[in-house]
Amino acid sequence: MSGEMSGEIELSMRGPEAYRLARAAIDGMEDHKIWPTPLNFELWLHYLGNPEGPLGQAIGQLLKDGDPITEAVAEGLAAEFLPKARLNEEIRDAGDKLNQQLQNISAAIKTAQKSTDAYGRALAGASEELADDTLQATTVTRLVNSLATATKKVQRENASLEKRLNASTNEVSRLREHLEQVRREAMTDALTTLANRKALDEGLMRACAEADATGKPMSMAVVDIDHFKRFNDTWGHQTGDQVIRYVASVMGRVGEHPRLAARYGGEEFAVLFPREEMAEVARELDAIRREIGSRTLKRRSTNEDLGAVTVSVGVAQYLKGEGPAGLIERADAALYASKRAGRDRVSCADLQRSEAA
Ligand code: C2E
Repeated sequence: MSGEMSGEIELSMRGPEAYRLARAAIDGMEDHKIWPTPLNFELWLHYLGNPEGPLGQAIGQLLKDGDPITEAVAEGLAAEFLPKARLNEEIRDAGDKLNQQLQNISAAIKTAQKSTDAYGRALAGASEELADDTLQATTVTRLVNSLATATKKVQRENASLEKRLNASTNEVSRLREHLEQVRREAMTDALTTLANRKALDEGLMRACAEADATGKPMSMAVVDIDHFKRFNDTWGHQTGDQVIRYVASVMGRVGEHPRLAARYGGEEFAVLFPREEMAEVARELDAIRREIGSRTLKRRSTNEDLGAVTVSVGVAQYLKGEGPAGLIERADAALYASKRAGRDRVSCADLQRSEAA
């Protein structure tokens, strides 16, 4: 399993500073003879906006080493770093909007308070005047009229406050839904719609904690598409992506809740099996492995046979107290055992800790 989770990228994209940054990005790309494609532009904005961030450092190193930033390199950088940066932008936007709504609500409450105070003063004044024994009928009429006017005014203001509060409440629930969707997207792999690595890491932590607390079994499988590079090199990236989606669709069926199936890396998947023992999981995965290999895929554009896709699988059962890293390491070791033994097979990890762990 490869690749560390990317760190946070901070980038202020608001106000006059944003124009300065955009101009500097275009100049920088021109200086380094990089085409200003939308993707390169976005990468450069992040590089210049935060050269010390993970993406900034990665680009800085490439430039320092004189490595060309080709389309493939740019796509690699984008896949590794941009989802998190985009997520930060979305969250910042939602935060700004939420603040605006809170300000609106607080302003509306202040206005309401003022009008209630004024109404209270009008009532107190009228009450004083009414206490006068020598009160004339005309004065009473004037007082009643002025109280009626004040009452109407406060009613109008209350209605307007209610409208503004309703609008703000609607906007806040819209923002909440939007954030929920952003959160879901942040946990989903775009190509396969399976859970992504971040979601798996979180699920794995929870599953390990549950297994530690309850003493119930828990298993994990790692699944790798055999000779994937050969598919890519022979048929191109688009067909490679379809092969990944094909295996993902099968893994998605296996990994239905409470299990969790995720795309863990390029052509690698992982499935968590809470409260399940390794032997049973391995039997099921062996049937799945056969199912995957039994289908001949076609290249969509030319209808050529792509042949069969096979997968190698490693399964491990959680050992109390070993934590996520220990389990992953043993599942990985089982996967490599499958690869070494000729691929297209399922191997089980030892039910004891490895020397290294
Ligand atoms: P997709 O192309 O979006 O297809 C989604 C689902 O629609 C497939 O799920 C399958 O149930 C159905 N489907 C699509 N095209 C066909 C077809 O020509 N014949 C039949 N019988 N059903 C079809 P499935 O099979 O789980 O595949 C998931 C994904 O895996 C597909 O998404 C595609 O990206 C990839 N895939 C599967 N088989 C092939 C194949 O033979 N060639 C290529 N290039 N990709 C494939």
